[in-house]
Amino acid sequence: MTESSPLEKEIQYLKGVGPARAAALKKLGIENVANLLYYPPRAWADRSHIKPISKLVPGEHETVHGIVVMSSTQKIKFKLTITKVVIQDKSGHITAVWYNQPYIEKQFKKGDEVIMFGKIDMFRGVLQINNPEYELSSPEDNEAVNVNRIVPVYPLTESITQKQFRKMVKFALDNYMQYVTEYLPEEFRKKFNLEELQKSLFQIHFPESFDALEKAKYRLIFDEFFTVQFALNMKRKKMQALKGNVFNITGEYKEIFRQHMPFKLTGAQRRVVEEIKKDVSLGKPMNRLLQGDVGSGKTVVAMIAAVIAKDSGFQTAFLAPTEILAAQHMRTAEKLLEGTGIKAELILGGAATKNKKAALERLKTGETDIVIGTHAIIQETVEFKNLGLAVIDEQHRFGVMQRAALLKKASVKPHVLIMTATPIPRTLAMTVYGDTDVSVIDELPPGRKPIKTVLFSDAKKDRLYAFLEERLKEGGQIYIVYPLVDVSEKLDLKSAIESEKEIAARFPAYKTAIVHGQMKKEERDIIMAEFKLKKVHILAATTVIEVGIDIPNASVMVIEHAERFGLSQLHQLRGRVGRGDKQSYCILVGDPSTEDAIKRLSVMTSTSDGFKIAEEDLAIRGPGDFLGTKQHGLPEFRLANIITDRKILELARSAADWLMSDNCDMDHRKINETIDNIKHKSGRNYDLINIG
Ligand code: ADP
Ligand code: MG
Repeated sequence: MTESSPLEKEIQYLKGVGPARAAALKKLGIENVANLLYYPPRAWADRSHIKPISKLVPGEHETVHGIVVMSSTQKIKFKLTITKVVIQDKSGHITAVWYNQPYIEKQFKKGDEVIMFGKIDMFRGVLQINNPEYELSSPEDNEAVNVNRIVPVYPLTESITQKQFRKMVKFALDNYMQYVTEYLPEEFRKKFNLEELQKSLFQIHFPESFDALEKAKYRLIFDEFFTVQFALNMKRKKMQALKGNVFNITGEYKEIFRQHMPFKLTGAQRRVVEEIKKDVSLGKPMNRLLQGDVGSGKTVVAMIAAVIAKDSGFQTAFLAPTEILAAQHMRTAEKLLEGTGIKAELILGGAATKNKKAALERLKTGETDIVIGTHAIIQETVEFKNLGLAVIDEQHRFGVMQRAALLKKASVKPHVLIMTATPIPRTLAMTVYGDTDVSVIDELPPGRKPIKTVLFSDAKKDRLYAFLEERLKEGGQIYIVYPLVDVSEKLDLKSAIESEKEIAARFPAYKTAIVHGQMKKEERDIIMAEFKLKKVHILAATTVIEVGIDIPNASVMVIEHAERFGLSQLHQLRGRVGRGDKQSYCILVGDPSTEDAIKRLSVMTSTSDGFKIAEEDLAIRGPGDFLGTKQHGLPEFRLANIITDRKILELARSAADWLMSDNCDMDHRKINETIDNIKHKSGRNYDLINIG
């Protein structure tokens, strides 16, 4: 696709679109003709042979074609309405049912000819189709776009109908397909069993058969994976060619830690330290991902790396996702470094840093060895004398762009250590961090007792409070997390502010406090400090306490409305306890009603293995959501699913490796041409993966 390609024509100028509809399409991310061609259906309805209503099979997804004979909407309960539309053909009738969508009734008039698609049910002897896709049928349908074939169903908003959309797609396919160019040579396609691109694009919208649809999907999914794998391969090559600082490991750091660390490193921590030492001595920039469950001791390892950097005359930037965490890392650093002459400094956003000008100057002159902070460190005005190591905590909170901005502050690319407590399943690590070495801390510091996790129904509040009282009597401290800061008119949920009052009244002998994201940072810090000093016994909070807070005496984590939280979030919250020598508890309060929520909570009560939880999370939520792709800046997969299409992902990876290797037996000119084509095709995506 070249810049002047007709495929880049603005969508509003496509025949039959115009400005109003273009605005609606824009909301779907469709701005030009190519976007429309590449907008995949989310389902395909088989209308090649529509059955008579009497032959529909309960349990199956089927297409219904008939005439509307009746429609009604009933209010069943305060929050429930049911809309029913009865459809009839020569063989019988079926009732279409929608919940809480009363406006749907207006779309149907008696005598309308309609097509519906959805799951067939038998309810009290009556055939039903629940929440179906629906369209009015008309003579126009003879274009063979809407009936008598396998028909695409698109993810749309209410302002565009399926029929309008199909018509636009069909027009674009008929008139613009000639400008789509195949970028993979025939030899390559044969080798990896791939259908041709133009054909696949046509078939993904209007398949001749389900077999042809499968082939088309396969090819397009391959393309999505392949462009990413190709870019990662290029990046790997580029990284291998980069020069990096060589750290000169004197062993002085060992002395420092022997004197200042109140404990011995675990075997896993020692192993990771060795891996890091090796990386930083090779003359190439380290690019290592450190995975380890909450509380496994990653921060300590990162501090050791920072001291090793200092030992060789380099500065370290330590990035934390929140100010609370940055401050905590600062305290850890102060404790470990006291009396060593190594200087750590905290730099926060806005005016939060005291004497900021002086602090920035100390960093620039090299007086400061370790700078700890939030994304404020990335700002233009922050300069280093000799940045040699970047430690990035909880990387998923930082975008690819931010990471790149930080790394630019050094003349030679610094070593990078990324720490994450959200273990990334292997499949994903391969896709997203295909260019990164991975270390795992798979051992908790000694003496930790496994956290007991239980699910409590909201109705059993008295029992819960009695339990909490016992823990308080033993000298324990308690976190209670709420999904909301304050009472909401829209959501019937407990909030931190409202509930803290109730808790305070219930436990008059103990001190209760609150932290949430709408408070000033200073206020939050004061309360966290009081909690740490045991001046506060019960801390009501929102998820601001989610990541990294380290208060070993806190032994109970209560999560209200647990069903509202995602698995990773629950796991992170649970990780706030179980850090001391007391038996710790995680109490999930809630009454899950959806299948997903029940699944999430049962995963929580059955395992504490972060990797297992991450795999489950990925399976429940799907990869896009899991990764927060927008933040990563990585291309979103539209057809491809990292879990179900794992085989195609692996094929794409080996195809990219093959193309770039000496084993590739295509002729040189063709290889180069293909590589150019791929770079061109991936465009922005390629650049995004290739920075940083
Ligand atoms: P993470 O960053 O992985 O969440 P931290 O480095 O914050 O974990 O460590 C969690 C707690 O465990 C801290 O209080 C830390 O001092 C302590 N800790 C770390 N490593 C060890 C160890 N080897 N032995 C005992 N305690 C440790
Ligand atoms: Mg941590």
